[in-house]
Formats: sequence, structure tokens, C-alpha cells
Amino acid sequence: MGTLRTLFLNPPSYAGFDGGAGARYQASREVRSFWYPTWLAQPAALIANSKLIDAPADDLGLEQVLQMAKGFELCIIHTSTPSFDNDVRVAGALKKASPDMIIGFVGAHVAVLPAAALRAAPVLDFVAREEYDYALLEVAQGQPWETVAGISFRRDGVIRHNPDRALIQDLDALPSVLDVYKRDLKIENYYNGYLLHPYLSLYTGRGCPARCTFCLWPQTVSGRTYRTRSAASVIAEMSRARALFPEVKEFFIDDDTFTANLPRAAEIARGLGRLGLVWSCNARANVPYDYLKLFKENGLRVLLVGYESGNQQILNNVKKGLRVDIAEEFTRNCSKLGILVHGCFILGLPGETKETISESIRFACRLNVDTIQVSIPAPYPGTELYRQVMANKWYEPSALVRNDGTQSCALSYPNLSAADIQAGVKRFYTRFYGRPTPIWRMLVRMARDPEERRRRLREGREFLRYLRGRSPDPAACGEDRPQARDSVPV
Ligand code: SF4
Repeated sequence: MGTLRTLFLNPPSYAGFDGGAGARYQASREVRSFWYPTWLAQPAALIANSKLIDAPADDLGLEQVLQMAKGFELCIIHTSTPSFDNDVRVAGALKKASPDMIIGFVGAHVAVLPAAALRAAPVLDFVAREEYDYALLEVAQGQPWETVAGISFRRDGVIRHNPDRALIQDLDALPSVLDVYKRDLKIENYYNGYLLHPYLSLYTGRGCPARCTFCLWPQTVSGRTYRTRSAASVIAEMSRARALFPEVKEFFIDDDTFTANLPRAAEIARGLGRLGLVWSCNARANVPYDYLKLFKENGLRVLLVGYESGNQQILNNVKKGLRVDIAEEFTRNCSKLGILVHGCFILGLPGETKETISESIRFACRLNVDTIQVSIPAPYPGTELYRQVMANKWYEPSALVRNDGTQSCALSYPNLSAADIQAGVKRFYTRFYGRPTPIWRMLVRMARDPEERRRRLREGREFLRYLRGRSPDPAACGEDRPQARDSVPV
């Protein structure tokens, strides 16, 4: 038996839904933006003759996907807690069109709840838990399922769980995702408000050593050790990326925390500097000045930084391992060096009050970072936050996303309602972007660059629509929201 013709599918979902094969929380964003579906591109690179379809990024509906799926024998769908029911419907339509097609789900949701997922969706033949790259290769190669570590499957009406699969240690052994990107993706469809367009993102390592209680991937699929590729292989891949995609303006290193191993990050930065690339990465708000300087001198443009809150007690509550004063010093250093910062904040973490929301807004304005993103915590199964929410009954009878795919608030506290949290997000954006500095900054850039002008005008319209649509009352979202199975409340 040869290798099964394998389709990797980021399924059609809510309009603009950034569903999890690359996104850390799954939702339609405030402005149209998508992460690369790298978690599907990686096993696709392992399996000959496979194909990757990223339906939301390419604006593909179910009918188009059904046409494109014809002839495939195995379909791997990346699912998430908020999109699970939708993704099961897509799987059902695929199975109806091709009854012999084997369908497997991957993603944090099924990694944590494999039995519940298989019970809830008889259309599923198997789910692959943990890091699934080699498990999917073995399935595609026709290895007996009883011998494939890390999968759960149905046999004779009984759900079986094979032993766990160890995390991959030799990341250099995995093939590059670049050829899959080149073959299957339209890179101009990947936007991000704070990255130059088009951008291209790659991983140089997996896992994060920090212990943030709300963070999905390290607690479910990628682990709490930062496993890395060698600097030499990263630099060689970036050089190839530049040759394959000469139109790319910025290369994004999407590791959870690229700065978790600073000497290695510095070695890679020097290599990127020699290549003359403009690059950006995720970073913690505690990188020392000398490293920031070295990164800047070697092409770093933007850092994505998870500040989360301006209140120290909240940072302690969620085990962020970060000090507010260090974060402020770090941000001043970035500003001094001309490194742009996209600041990520979360409203509604344990300990939040109306006062701490105001404190975080003041903090963000004081930091004066270039752009911000304000999220609501998503208590995903498998996270410590989820366990806390369930134990303390902090949940709201709400799905994780609304019927337009944007984030909804699925938790509330005795002293802070879901509506307060949602209103806080709106206030945060309005206060931060309503100041003269960000407006002026944006106008200057728009005046200098016609492409920037077109893009910002489009994003501005989308953002205003988002703000208008964000009702502070979750009950106003209607009864027709898809309720994520196994999400809060169970
Ligand atoms: S540092 Fe960032 S990636 Fe790492 S656990 Fe915390 S939130 Fe997640």
C-alpha cells in the first residue's frame, strides 16, 4: 500500500476565523488577519503528494472545499474548542461526498479531550494528540493504527487510546515548510496589522518554559521546554525563504518565545543580519538592553510582547513571571533603540476588577507602544485557567466566540461581570487609540506610503465595525451562537 493521498484542511468557518493551525486563541480578529497554518504545513511537508487548504485565509466556502477534496483518501482537519461543532459539520460533508475518506482531527481541543471528541462526532475516524507530525505520517503510510503512538481511534464501536507520543527533540530532522507554503498558500492572504505585508512566518523552536496559566499551547501540545532547531538550520532556511519569496517584506519568527534562549537568539539574529532580512518575533518583556541592541542592529523591526496586565498581582496570579517595572524599562529601551512593540493585553484574568482594568489602560498608554491587541481570556480545556474557572464557577453561559466568530467572554467573577470585561476591552482600545500620539503616528505613515494608507483605511473601517458590533451585554449576542462542546460550561 502506498502513501494515502492526504489533505490537510484548515476548515471553512466564521468569516475571517483564524482557527488554530497557527493562532494561539481562535477567533475572527478585530481587523482581518491570519497566522500561517504552520502546524498543518509541517506534517504536510512530511507526506508526499499531500495538499494544504487554508479555507478562511483563501475565503473558500464549504462547496469549494468539497470540490477540491475530491480524490483524497485521508483528510486531517485542524480544530479548536470554539470551532469544534462547525468543524464536525465540515467533516460530515466531506464524508458524505467521499464515504471512504478517512478523517482525523488534530489540535489542542482533541489532544485534551480525545474520547469526548470521538464520542461527540461519529464521523471522526481518529484524533491525533500531542505533536502529531510523525503520527500522521505513519497513518498516511498505512501503519496499523494499534501501533501509532499518540492517536485515539474507534475500533468495533470502542474508543481506543494508544500510548502518548513523545515530544519531538530533533526539530532539525523535520523538513522545511517552505515548499508547502510555496505550493499551497497564497501568501498575500496573510495579514497582520503590525507586520509589513506580505509577511512570512516560520518556527525555529516549539514549547515555552514559562508557566502562564491561560496559555494554550505549552499546556496542551507543545510542552514547557523550549525545543529548538540549530541556528545554522534556521539561517539556511531563512536564506531559502528569501530566495523563494522575494516579495516578502518581513520574516516573522513565530516561536512562543524566541527570546527564551538569548545566546541562541543572538546567533540567529547575526545570521539574519548577514542576510539583510527585516524580521520580527515574539518576546517576553524582560530582554536586556544589549540583546535588544544586537537584534536591532541585525534587522529586528517589531517585537510582539505579552504584557497581559499592568497590575502586578494579576501577573502573579497567572504565573506570568514578569515584573511591571522591568516591563516598563524594557519598553523604554525598545523605544530608545527604535524597535517597534506590539503590546498584547488580556482583560479578565483572575483578580481583575474595574480598577485594575483602568490601571492596565493607563499602563499601556504610559508604555506608549506602537500598536496593541486586547483579548479576553479563553478558558480552554487543558489549561490551568480552565480548571480554576470550573472550580470557582467563574463561567458564563456563553460560547468562546459570537456568531460572527469574534471573541466572546466565557467567564465572569463575583465582582466583575462578563459585560464589564467586554466593555473594558472597548474602553481600552478607544482610550489607547484615541490619544493624539497613535493617531499622529498613523497619519505620518499613511502620508509617506500609499500602500500603508490603503491598508490602514481598510483596517480602520473593519475596526470601527468591530467596536460598534461589540455589545457589552453577552446576552445580546442571541441564542443562535454555536456552543462549543466541552467548552465552558461543560
Ligand atoms: S510566555 Fe507567552 S507563550 Fe510562554 S506560556 Fe506565557 S503566554 Fe504562553
